[in-house]
Parts: sequence; C-alpha cells; structure tokens
Amino acid sequence: MENIENIKAAGLKLTPQRIAVYKSMMKLRHAKLETIVEDLKHEHDSLTLSTVYRVLNSFCASGLLSMVCHPDTGDCYYDINVKDHHHLFSGSSIIDYNDEELTAMVREYIQEKRPDINDIEKIQVQITIK
Ligand SMILES: [Zn+2]
Repeated sequence: MENIENIKAAGLKLTPQRIAVYKSMMKLRHAKLETIVEDLKHEHDSLTLSTVYRVLNSFCASGLLSMVCHPDTGDCYYDINVKDHHHLFSGSSIIDYNDEELTAMVREYIQEKRPDINDIEKIQVQITIK
C-alpha cells in the first residue's frame, strides 16, 4: 500500500516537495501533470510546474510511479499503483483492474509463443469499455 515511507524506501530523501506530490498522487491515483499541479496549488502554491515535473520524474525513475497512456486520447497519466495490474478505460476515466490469474495467463502465453523473450518486466492489459 502507498504511504510516505515509500519515498525513503525507494532511496529518496523525504522533502516537503516530494511529500506533497506523493500525497497528491495517493489521492488522485492516475493523474496528468497539469492535474497534479492544480491539486497542489491550493496548499502548496510555491511548487512550480517544473519542480512537480522533476519530482514526478524522480518518482518514476525510482519505481514509485509508473505511466499509463489512454488509448483513445493518447494522454499519459502518472500511476501510483506500481504493482502488476491492468486498466479498464471507460470514457476518460482509468480504473485499476487487479487480476493475478490474467497476468499469469498472459505471462505463460508469451513465454510459450515467444521463448526468445525471457525477461518480461511488466504485463499490462488495457481494456476499453463501451
Ligand atoms: Zn493503474
């Protein structure tokens, strides 16, 4: 589960900026840069877009956040859930879909069909709902 201690566990120093951005992501779950900046504006008006962007990049590089791109809009979102999971897209919303069985099934399928690929890092199935 996500909490502020994850920042330290990822090898990053706990700074007020990092704490603010991570708390915002804990609330927003999937969010675009602009949405995070907007969310932070109320309590942290000194945080600039470039600072938030740098913090988000350091979180991605440290494995605290991942990215997910919406198949219809092409917009990319920061995602606080870094465990194996899938996404359901309904309109503009992105819903986490946890299904270990599906993940294992896709992993086995790929390993059988493409034995040359032996180091799958992450499996993400994207499902669009009409
Ligand atoms: Zn997600």
